[in-house]
Order: sequence, then C-alpha cells, then structure tokens
Amino acid sequence: MCNALDPIVRTWIALLDSAEVLLRTAPGRDPGAFDRVGIAIDLLLKHEHTMTDAQRELARRTVWVRDNPESIPDDRSTWGRCTCPTCRLARRLTQAHQKYPALRASAVAIVLPQPTPTTQGELFP
Ligand SMILES: [Zn+2]
Repeated sequence: MCNALDPIVRTWIALLDSAEVLLRTAPGRDPGAFDRVGIAIDLLLKHEHTMTDAQRELARRTVWVRDNPESIPDDRSTWGRCTCPTCRLARRLTQAHQKYPALRASAVAIVLPQPTPTTQGELFP
C-alpha cells in the first residue's frame, strides 16, 4: 500500500483487508469467528462514516487498482457513498419520500413518553 495515501484512507483499506481475511479464514462452525468478522465489519463501517466522499472514493479506487486487472469502471457514482447502516437507511428514506411524497405528508411524529418525575431526588439531596 502506498504510504503517500491519506492516513484515513490507509486505515479504511487496512480495516477492509482485516475483515476480508477474518471472513476468509473463519472456521465454518465457530460462532466466535463470525462474531469477530462482525466486529471487524462494524469497525470498518464506523470508520467509513467518518470519511469524506472524496476519501471513500479514493479508498475504493485504490483497492480496485490493487485487486483488479481490469480498468476502473466508468460508473463510480456510488464509490463516495458511506455504506454504514445509518447512511443506507437515510438514503432509502429519502428515496421513499421522493417516490411516495404522501408518506411524508401522512407521517405522524412519534412522541416518546417522558420519565415521570419522582421524589427520589428530594429524599437524597
Ligand atoms: Zn455513514
């Protein structure tokens, strides 16, 4: 890996490689191995969430060039996207609201019940 790369991009690539190695070498019937893979993927996605679109695109481009003999695909429109669960959900909600505007109009704000005040604090100031 090129050391001139942005350290944030290098970290993403290292986390990706680590997750892939853990996944490839996980014994089939070892639940602990799959927990470790899940933790590695979670770390990767949390790191990815902190990156800019340009950093994510550079990271994916670097991995593509390193791992693929083919030239880089013309359509790289999604390479800058964050793929963490929060951002994926936000994109899907945006798409749903665009496709079905009535959803937004009929959405009802959910109000969670607030904790009931107690006298406990008054007894022990
Ligand atoms: Zn994200």
